[in-house]
Amino acid sequence: MIFDEEFETLPREALEALQLKRLQQTVQRVYHTVGFYRRSFNDADVTPDDIRTLGDLRRLPFTTKQDLRDNYPFGLFAVPMSSVVRLHASSGTTGRATVVGYTKRDIEIWSDLMARCFVAAGLTKNDIIHNAYGYGLFTGGLGAHYGAEKLGASVIPISGGNTKRQIMILQDFGPSAICCTPSYALNIAEQGQAMGIDMRSLKLRVGIFGAEPWSEEMRVQIEAALNIQALNIYGLSEVMGPGVAMECLEGREGMHIFEDFFIAEIIDPDTGAPMPHGAKGELVFTTLSKEAFPLIRYRTRDITSLIPAPCRCGRTLIRMDRVTGRSDDMLIIRGVNVFPSQIEAVLVGIEGLEPHYQIIVDRVNNLDTLEVQVEVNEKIFGGGDVIRVLQNTEKRIVKDIKDYLGVSAKVKLVEPKTLQRFEGKASRVIDKRHI
Ligand SMILES: [Zn+2]
Repeated sequence: MIFDEEFETLPREALEALQLKRLQQTVQRVYHTVGFYRRSFNDADVTPDDIRTLGDLRRLPFTTKQDLRDNYPFGLFAVPMSSVVRLHASSGTTGRATVVGYTKRDIEIWSDLMARCFVAAGLTKNDIIHNAYGYGLFTGGLGAHYGAEKLGASVIPISGGNTKRQIMILQDFGPSAICCTPSYALNIAEQGQAMGIDMRSLKLRVGIFGAEPWSEEMRVQIEAALNIQALNIYGLSEVMGPGVAMECLEGREGMHIFEDFFIAEIIDPDTGAPMPHGAKGELVFTTLSKEAFPLIRYRTRDITSLIPAPCRCGRTLIRMDRVTGRSDDMLIIRGVNVFPSQIEAVLVGIEGLEPHYQIIVDRVNNLDTLEVQVEVNEKIFGGGDVIRVLQNTEKRIVKDIKDYLGVSAKVKLVEPKTLQRFEGKASRVIDKRHI
């Protein structure tokens, strides 16, 4: 089944003509409305009129996460705030978060693309969709929600967490589809089993899983535990949110990128040079329709490759392979993007700590765990009730990490000069997960 038969099966030539037209419009618009792009195009000695073919895209400079941070919060918006109907943001302390905006039309297109994803998963308006992606500033919950409504399906806006309640609703409401992170799906399955529930006999038929990297082995595990078909979805808030690319039920081998709205490139993360189809590199996106927050050649830092071969589902849209890693130090913890620098920003705001810390990430019972070890300084022992001071400091760090980054962490204070010191680039993170 295909939601938008015409545009999801356009012949290559027609698709590329459409991409070029939309690219030219986007480039003109950002050049005239966003100071950042006007300056960066000028620095690269390129003007909107230089974009005559799709190949000319390569003449445009990249946009990076740092550019987004430097223009916090609204510096890259291409429309006045009166035209913006929604704001989403990544987690992080002020200046380290990234903020994205949407016009009414942006939300409509996002909803359409999410509806495409649900239909690619074999869903119709007759289905009930259990949406366990987080609602809020994170794009997952509302993105999937609007797509499900666009399709006309019945959506359960349960959001994340409270697993026992999730299981009760899965039993009682009988949804045919579930949306969440793949690790949370496994966690739900395990907790259900532990409660004595036959998780294979629920009405669930399909799962749409994303927001963190996962493997084929995990797919097999989830499918066995819940007796469903598990599909991979891709998106990121900067580019739109979930629904940039989606696996189809028929192919189940790579996610179709909605190329009528996004141009994907693969580049060498070290040199920025374009790489051919099939080669593994960093994924770069240019948006073709976004009004409030258009992006030119945005470096996602996700490592993957493009699959140009035709798919048995009939879609002509190129596919991207699973994301297998990052070209930066970003961690994905229970679906939340976390940079070590954000944890550091929290720590420097708290008295009594040394700038030496270690982050340990693991996966226990299919849930990611985050532990932060940080050295206290000598001064902390100078006061009166040392134990109480230490306990309060620990609590404060836990709270600040939760408040600013949206993840729960275990915090361990250690004595001065006990953590490893680094010469050159510090490796602050130990990631024990095997994904
Ligand atoms: Zn397909």
